[in-house]
Amino acid sequence: MAGVYRQPISTLTPGAQNTLIIGVIINSKNPRSFNFEDKNRSGQRSVWTITLRDSIQSTINATIWGSTEFVNKLSATYRIGSVIDVINAKVQERKPNDKNEAFLPSVSSSCCLVINESASLIQNHDGADREEYEGLLSVPTKSLSNVKSLQYIMENMEALINQYLDIIVVVTFIGESKNIITKDGRSMVTRDFEVTDESCGNTTVALKFWENDWVQRSGDWEPKRTVLFIVDIQVAFDRFKKKNTIIITRKTMITENPNIPQAEVARKSINTESEYMPNDPFVIPKPETIKNIMTINEITQRLNSKMMQDGERVQFVTVLYGQIMEMNLDDLKIPILIERCALCKRLVSGPDESCMNLNCPCGNGRRPVQNILNFYVKVNLKDETGYLVGCRLSGDVAEKTFDCTPEEFKKMSFEERTNLKWKFMTEQVEIKLQVIGPTSTFPRSLYNILSLKRISDSISSQENFNDNNNDD
Ligand SMILES: [Zn+2]
Repeated sequence: MAGVYRQPISTLTPGAQNTLIIGVIINSKNPRSFNFEDKNRSGQRSVWTITLRDSIQSTINATIWGSTEFVNKLSATYRIGSVIDVINAKVQERKPNDKNEAFLPSVSSSCCLVINESASLIQNHDGADREEYEGLLSVPTKSLSNVKSLQYIMENMEALINQYLDIIVVVTFIGESKNIITKDGRSMVTRDFEVTDESCGNTTVALKFWENDWVQRSGDWEPKRTVLFIVDIQVAFDRFKKKNTIIITRKTMITENPNIPQAEVARKSINTESEYMPNDPFVIPKPETIKNIMTINEITQRLNSKMMQDGERVQFVTVLYGQIMEMNLDDLKIPILIERCALCKRLVSGPDESCMNLNCPCGNGRRPVQNILNFYVKVNLKDETGYLVGCRLSGDVAEKTFDCTPEEFKKMSFEERTNLKWKFMTEQVEIKLQVIGPTSTFPRSLYNILSLKRISDSISSQENFNDNNNDD
């Protein structure tokens, strides 16, 4: 592509013809589909919005229109961090009063790009200068002059309501991604995470991603290490939490680990000894982020150490090394597989029964009943300090542990189930555990297994790794 003439974003003017713009995607929204109908035809169309950057100063929003297939394919191929060529986009002037502008990130360009399936082209940028564009990902999109501390925001929520603010924060907690169904029947992936800054002490603020690209990227973050410069986070009333809080909106832009001295200052301000637990006890942490080790005795002490207050619940995660005493895989009297609604995950009473959930398309009759089988296995553990009875191994974690789907398990003979069980019994195992203490209404502790590995497996994979390395 030598000699190709590109237009820098900063030089674009409305109506420019046959443009070639090269940039890195710094923000990407979920594509949205809608039905259309006019005199001649009807069908489904989709739209996808991204923000492009080609220099420290220059950013521009681009909207891609086309068939659902076209838009979905593009948005799955080009993610945040992709460097792309945009060929023959329509260059339009942004209109300050356009209500769509309120839902778009603030950018430097006075223009926006419209990319139509029939007239424009997006392709991977295949040039030696790729790295220069990728480097822009860690450059803040804005000056830091308007950064506010979390403490200032928390203390002035009322006065700041509906305003957009900038913050520099350290990630303290990363939840597992979650599949959810919205009231209008769309399936979405979300991720909860929490942040803090120097002003906050050990207090953290909970945030949530609804955009696929950010759900995916945040899976690679590290608690207490990853720093975020968040531009245009909004102070808003949260309908679910019934209080004012800060939320990520369609306008918000994030720079991960920005290349500024303030990032290291923020990282150093964090108490690395402190174990940051999520505000919401039902948010499941990503197992990879769980590092602290406890014995069963220590778990018991911790559960008993704190007197319960109203509505308060002891809650923590830990790594436990021990042995499996019992696992009810071959007990025919106890159900190991349970039936759930595929969409809302509620329990159903039989394979063809509906979830009866009026907020769920399968429950209110807008979609045919669709149920899935789930593992629900009880596991008893022991280590040299004691016993832990009734731990739950369910869902995806169980599938990963047994390396089989519930459908495959259903077909297994009694002998096969017993063999599977004895793969784990009396073996040394590493278990990542979520412990949720009792409350006044629910008097029992819950032990959720978040990952289960045989120590012998991790040793042999380590040996393989070493062998492979020795071959070189
Ligand atoms: Zn349902």
